[in-house]
Amino acid sequence: MFSIDSNTKPSSMKTNFNADNSRAATWVSCYVGLGSNLMNELGSPSEHIARALASMQEYGQIRELQASSFYASAPMGPQDQPDFVNAVAGFQTTLTPFTLLAYCQQLEALAKRARIRRWGERSLDVDILLYGDLQMTDPQLTIPHAGLSERNFVLIPLRELTPTLTVAGIPIVDYPQSNDWTGLTLLSCD
Ligand code: AMP
Repeated sequence: MFSIDSNTKPSSMKTNFNADNSRAATWVSCYVGLGSNLMNELGSPSEHIARALASMQEYGQIRELQASSFYASAPMGPQDQPDFVNAVAGFQTTLTPFTLLAYCQQLEALAKRARIRRWGERSLDVDILLYGDLQMTDPQLTIPHAGLSERNFVLIPLRELTPTLTVAGIPIVDYPQSNDWTGLTLLSCD
């Protein structure tokens, strides 16, 4: 598991995010997937993910944050781009699904994410994987994440964090992609 260092937190995070109606009635267990394959002036792919995790660690509407190890994965879309670094974070939040989405997008913006091409390189991608046992389909937000059951770079770190998890009623260990390491490598912690 990745050890989260709050010293890498950008100080703007706590004050920037203050959406109205942002509080759920209670704490909800959530998982997000983080991915990066683009270095920029703020750092390397692993540093983008570490900084996002540190921001989450400091954020008042998130508690009990845990992060998986970091993994290298072959790109899903265009092949003429670097491998991705991926990780999954689990936590409890009082953010609603849409304000959690806005929060994830703010983490992406803080990594100076620019969209170059579909499924192409990006400094940071943060997707909501699970929000309690919520199932929703909206043009802006699908939960569980639409690609979750087919992506080993999501299922394997998710399984590392919570081996007993069930996704859409199915134990995570029973998803074929949670047992398939094709294109995936565990990165060392340092
Ligand atoms: P992406 O290319 O991964 O940054 O996703 C682009 C769009 O996907 C976002 O603007 C969201 O509105 C939408 N989206 C739908 N479901 C999700 C989800 N579970 N997590 C994150 N984004 C989502």
